[in-house]
Amino acid sequence: MFEKKTVEDIDVKRKRVLVRVDYNVPLDSEGNITDNTRIKLSLPTIKYLIDNEAKIILMSHLGRPKGEVNDKFRLDPAAKELGKLLGRKVKKFDDIVSPGIKEYVENTMNYGDMVLLENLRFDIGEKSNDREFAKSLASLAEVFVNDAFGAAHRAHASVVGVTEFLPAVAGFLMKKEVGTLTSLLESPKRPFLTVLGGSKVSGKIMVIKNLLGKVDSLILGGGMSYTFLKAKGCEIGKSICEDEQISYTKEMLELAKKNNVNLMLPVDIVVGKEYDRDTDRKVVSAQSIPMDWMGLDIGEKSIELFKNEISEAGTIFWNGPVGVFEWENFENGTKKIAKAIAESSAVTVAGGGDTLAALKKYNLSAKFSHVSSGGGASMELLEGKELPGIASLLDK
Ligand code: AMP
Repeated sequence: MFEKKTVEDIDVKRKRVLVRVDYNVPLDSEGNITDNTRIKLSLPTIKYLIDNEAKIILMSHLGRPKGEVNDKFRLDPAAKELGKLLGRKVKKFDDIVSPGIKEYVENTMNYGDMVLLENLRFDIGEKSNDREFAKSLASLAEVFVNDAFGAAHRAHASVVGVTEFLPAVAGFLMKKEVGTLTSLLESPKRPFLTVLGGSKVSGKIMVIKNLLGKVDSLILGGGMSYTFLKAKGCEIGKSICEDEQISYTKEMLELAKKNNVNLMLPVDIVVGKEYDRDTDRKVVSAQSIPMDWMGLDIGEKSIELFKNEISEAGTIFWNGPVGVFEWENFENGTKKIAKAIAESSAVTVAGGGDTLAALKKYNLSAKFSHVSSGGGASMELLEGKELPGIASLLDK
């Protein structure tokens, strides 16, 4: 359930509307956008505002320019791409706030038109949530719409600060993301299965703990599974392991038992001699990885076991590759698990940067019910945390 006001619950007709979008898009070395998904996802809110003849003032961050102007991180490519998608020119300013911008928005800009401010992170006040910086952003508009789900876990000036000065509501993307992820936690179609991978346990500590109170099954693969295997007494050789997390993983294994969660670990492993894409490899039992080998992917027996569980699930959430999927020799597990989830009849949700990269690599994104645009934000929601960018919006 989404209990915040949205852009449909407030009068935006012929109003000046400040919209926080997430145009933190990947760029190649020449500054070309390599994936415009995040810009496409902002279109429903922008089109709604165009239809309502609002003056649309868009703002976003891009990269980590550390509070200084840096030509590499200007938002011109995003303005161009948005213009291309909408079939119209999008005016982009080279400043974030200035008397000239305010003057333009109030007196020159047409209703139903849009402008894009410069990268918010060129000003140190963005990340420090500086009150004066937020106030000057807010002074451009009469209403604030937050559609940047990917930044909702950040208490920054353009996310939280501006809400002190303007009525603040959610855009359509924010509503969809939060609605999907909260209903996943609150009322999933059962059985509810989560597949977690990635390199480290420590990055997912709170997610695992929270999910163990929600899911019916939990599959753990990837680098994080070796700490769990070690905690269960398996030999893990040179595999990646966080010894300081062993007692936590033991606690999680106990919690899974107590909550009747079927916690599944790999039973066979594709090991390599070194952490190298062309290293020698072989398949071994997950019980006993030889001393000088390291686990880099899951084996076929594990894939079959996991596929069975996937085929029976009503809802599946996936975050994190189950092996070093960037290397051809160790991508088999991630590829097959991703495909099995995509082809299942369950409600399927994926989130996280590497997970999205894997879906893109195997061309599977369109087969998922929902692919979250916010890695960090989706993880924090699944941890059960309140996100500042959502908490600061008006209640319904
Ligand atoms: P994370 O950022 O924690 O989600 O981890 C994603 C990364 O985990 C990917 O880049 C994978 O290459 C890496 N990964 C997955 N399995 C393993 C493994 N067995 N050993 C080392 N790294 C792994």
